[in-house]
Amino acid sequence: QKRAKKQLSPQKIKVVCRVRPFLAEELYDDTVVVEENSIKITNKRKTNENFVYSFYSCYDMNASQLEIFEHDVRPLLEPVLNGKNATIFAYGVTGSGKTYTMQGAETDPGIIPRTIQTLFQIKSEFKYSLELRLSYIELYKEVINDLLVSRETAPIGGLNIRQGSDNQIYLSNLTEKKIDTYGEFKKIFRCACRNRSTAATKLNIMSSRSHADMCIYISCTNNETRNTTFSKLHLIDLAGSEDNRRTENGKERIAESSAINKSLLALNQVVEALNQGLSRIPYRDSKLTRLLQDSLGGENISMMIINISPGQSFYADTTLKFASRTK
Ligand code: ADP
Ligand code: MG
Repeated sequence: QKRAKKQLSPQKIKVVCRVRPFLAEELYDDTVVVEENSIKITNKRKTNENFVYSFYSCYDMNASQLEIFEHDVRPLLEPVLNGKNATIFAYGVTGSGKTYTMQGAETDPGIIPRTIQTLFQIKSEFKYSLELRLSYIELYKEVINDLLVSRETAPIGGLNIRQGSDNQIYLSNLTEKKIDTYGEFKKIFRCACRNRSTAATKLNIMSSRSHADMCIYISCTNNETRNTTFSKLHLIDLAGSEDNRRTENGKERIAESSAINKSLLALNQVVEALNQGLSRIPYRDSKLTRLLQDSLGGENISMMIINISPGQSFYADTTLKFASRTK
């Protein structure tokens, strides 16, 4: 007998969903309705048919950044301080709120700054001694670029992925910056975000077409046991999941779309394989999944945030592969 999987085993990926508020220029409608742990989507163009999808948690348009952080992100930090690697990513079409959720606004910080801030808070308490380092990369058309160096000095062809004898994944020549204060983080992050958008402008692309991965390397010593662990926490703002082949027809755009889709498609397959408990996980099918091989699935902690734009006009893009369809 098949039942909805309520029990979350460690290697499963926690999937949560967030519906952003309507923007000023958008007309309100109730195509997407958030109910406790599920969302109901109505196909208003056709038969008014309803689809209900359930998630580990669901956030409606009134949910605050703080609420999401406290409820679903903070609990992941304890295992990370105990040596587990972790990945949190935001998935959704362009405009659905991924960057808002991960990065946030200056006045309303998202998961990345809140995580760093919390790690510094933990550092200031007695239990742990922490050392934090940071890298920030962009993956565009299966090429990995370092966002902590300026475009001019970046190696052509991007960074290469290696797997160490410890089975951990490394990037050759990756810049890792040690950060000692939250202020230092903010400076580096601001500069990296600028690198992301200038690189995009130079290459004449929209930054929504690339994946951005901020990785925090944590060396944590428990002051009581003197035990030291090392872990990585990936915080990822994925490229828009829309199918650009339908909306744009330039040759360049099609090549770009299939490269983006290659990584997203591979990610879909990895998440599915993990959540079905399959033994062969196809990490090697794309750079994105290869990069996350040591941080996604297995003993690692993973969470996927499905960002959703509300309203009828996004109906076609609201494909919820990662939810469990209850009806
Ligand atoms: P994406 O990164 O998925 O393309 P953005 O994060 O840029 O989407 O969000 C698109 C727009 O919606 C932005 O103007 C952003 O400020 C706004 N937005 C997204 N989520 C929220 C939210 N939870 N509250 C307020 N505004 C939001
Ligand atoms: Mg974005």
